[in-house]
Amino acid sequence: MSFSRKFPVSAFALCMLPILATACPSGSPLESYSSFPNSAQLPQPGPGQSKFLTQITEVDISRKLIRANTDTLVSPDGTELFYGTPAAHTFSIDAITPVYYINNQNRWISIRELKPGTPIAIYGKPNGNSIIAEQIIIPTPDPKTLPQTPVIPAGLNPIEHDKVCMDRVVVPMIFPIAGRNNWSDTFLASRGGGTRRHLGQDLMASKLTPAVATFSGTVFLFTGRGNAGNIITIEGDNGWTAQYYHMNNDSPGTDDGKGTADFCFAPGIRNGERVFPGQLIGWIGDSGNAEGTAPHIHFEIWSQATGAVYNAAPSLSAAKKLSSPVVFAPAPDLTIPKGYGRYEGVIKNIDRDRQVLILDLIASDTNGKGLQSVTRPTREYLVADAKSRFSIFGLTEPLSFQNILIGDRITTIARLTPPGKGQELTELFALRNLARPVVQTAWQPETQTQSENNGTILLGPNDEFLASLAKVVLDEVNPIRAEKNLAPLTFDPMLARTAQAWTVSMVDGDFFDLTDGRINQSLTELAQRNGAPESTIGVISSAPSIKTIANLLLKDYRDDLLSPSTKSIGIGHTYLDEDTGKVTHQHYWAILIARN
Ligand SMILES: [Zn+2]
Repeated sequence: MSFSRKFPVSAFALCMLPILATACPSGSPLESYSSFPNSAQLPQPGPGQSKFLTQITEVDISRKLIRANTDTLVSPDGTELFYGTPAAHTFSIDAITPVYYINNQNRWISIRELKPGTPIAIYGKPNGNSIIAEQIIIPTPDPKTLPQTPVIPAGLNPIEHDKVCMDRVVVPMIFPIAGRNNWSDTFLASRGGGTRRHLGQDLMASKLTPAVATFSGTVFLFTGRGNAGNIITIEGDNGWTAQYYHMNNDSPGTDDGKGTADFCFAPGIRNGERVFPGQLIGWIGDSGNAEGTAPHIHFEIWSQATGAVYNAAPSLSAAKKLSSPVVFAPAPDLTIPKGYGRYEGVIKNIDRDRQVLILDLIASDTNGKGLQSVTRPTREYLVADAKSRFSIFGLTEPLSFQNILIGDRITTIARLTPPGKGQELTELFALRNLARPVVQTAWQPETQTQSENNGTILLGPNDEFLASLAKVVLDEVNPIRAEKNLAPLTFDPMLARTAQAWTVSMVDGDFFDLTDGRINQSLTELAQRNGAPESTIGVISSAPSIKTIANLLLKDYRDDLLSPSTKSIGIGHTYLDEDTGKVTHQHYWAILIARN
């Protein structure tokens, strides 16, 4: 039933006057608010604010309204009013209204998580027929921070001299790897030529697969620790400690051992901070004594109570598996206009002269389908201009570009632009009020990535890799051209990078087309903008291999490939292990053939 039919606006307006509250229609019967949870711990209203202790009857997500029956009202002057019959109130909420559990101010939840029947404290100011909610506190503890009780069967097994306990325990957990992986039980297998026992489980996955927090707790980060290499430790709220060994130490796409913390730990993850189940914490690698073996996490669980290590296998078998990390972001409902994207991440670098922010992405929404976590290290360039707006999340006072600092955890809205140019920043919210003070570091030139590319960089494919793709095609085509006395076709890195950016766009935007409908630009227009001739041909394919691509091109584009005016090609490829989009090709190829 719609609200307006149930409560005519005129009658509803009266509800704004507490003294007439008993004349207002009442909702379902409420228990006395003497039982309102934790009411003594709820803060007093701010200046001009009223505090409503109320119970949700309906959440209208599309119109951003909460309807609730209020039992207690605390006025700005501190007077408390108890309604005899609960008063129906409508609260208008904003995408940036902070909503959180009383014990966890750091996790702002979506209004979608608010359910009818839930008691909530709303702080707000009357405005016409509704009340503008400025802050919403759920008085009960956040279920995501509740300590879980480890299931330890009666201690049948003693703890062995080397702190090993043979009890089979099932610790409720999220599987530590989000995405494809495999493992078999190797607990206590002989290692080091019989000198030690294997205390963990080796969870195999490809390099730079996301590692996620297995349970909530405090995270600690270590690098270069001997056999273990780079380590993530989570001291769980549940009495268990999880160890993740061999986190990545390579530059993306290599095995060079030169990876920095950027490609080991997730953006924004800092020593001693809290993490939540399923949160992206780092990237799979082969550091320590896993160097030269297949990338994996050596995963251990230790009991904080007994100080012993336990076999993680029963817990891992029972664990919930994720295909991508859970996104923890404020205001997940933030409205994104068409043609715009939302980018969530941590500022890696700032070019103050050119007003460019380089963002290590945590999540993005570039197709209106909601925030999706990154599934490998991804960097986005955001270009500000005079119209870009800056503020601290939840505050209306504007900031300027100069106030934005390296290390800031930010939410942004930007106008989507073609790959390679950076996104046009329209609105930026810094989460400064949620994070500890950020450390300002000097601007340093980028050395990790192709710095001339100001667009999305899916770290991984470098020119060398792109050249190896083109080579497969050139090896087929050039012998035929030689027979015809034609000069060989060459690999063009610019074309390849453009094609690669296009495949990334198709994956990000969940489309498979020669035109990006979000920005009305075609693959060949993009190539021309990057300097390719007007007659350049663009091709996309979802073929399973580069060999198939070579065959397809020789069949369908034979005349073009064997034309005297054709000079060079570039090929890009993005592969999605588990494609969760509407368009599910797994393989996304883009090919550019430049003709003069
Ligand atoms: Zn191991």
